Amino acid sequence: MPGNNIFAYNPSSQKSQSKIFEREKSKIKKISDIIRKRKDYKCEASKLVIDIIIDRVFIKTTDKIMENFHRRDEEFWINNNCKGCKLCEKICPVNNIEFNLDKPVWKHNCEQCTACIQYCPMEAIQWGKKTIKRKRYRDPNINFIELIMR
Ligand code: SF4
Ligand code: SF4
Repeated sequence: MPGNNIFAYNPSSQKSQSKIFEREKSKIKKISDIIRKRKDYKCEASKLVIDIIIDRVFIKTTDKIMENFHRRDEEFWINNNCKGCKLCEKICPVNNIEFNLDKPVWKHNCEQCTACIQYCPMEAIQWGKKTIKRKRYRDPNINFIELIMR
């Protein structure tokens, strides 16, 4: 991943993001072909012990997160930089944000896609204390202007 999970870490540098995208191109094509043709496919799994351990730890952590998944938006808050542009409301794919007195309010049906926090032009959205110093990740394939104009 290029570092789009702001809840956990900073994005990678632009250079390594480009490398990741380049490396994954053929893989994504292969996977999309399999889906399009509705073929069965056995997922690749690493046999390295370190990968197996990481997977187990990751699954345990993910299980814990899933228990209260949609309500994890309770950790979102906004700082004084918010200028009420409503981009966060427009960008949320599940209409989980509404406005109250010109400020966003999260409705606890969050899919944790991170779009609102990554794309806020003022970096006004925070998640607990973890994101205060974290950089934002923007997908290079998404046109930011188009999003604002929607
Ligand atoms: S996108 Fe950011 S600045 Fe715009 S309304 Fe939402 S929180 Fe405020
Ligand atoms: S993280 Fe995604 S799903 Fe959750 S409120 Fe923000 S934009 Fe909506």
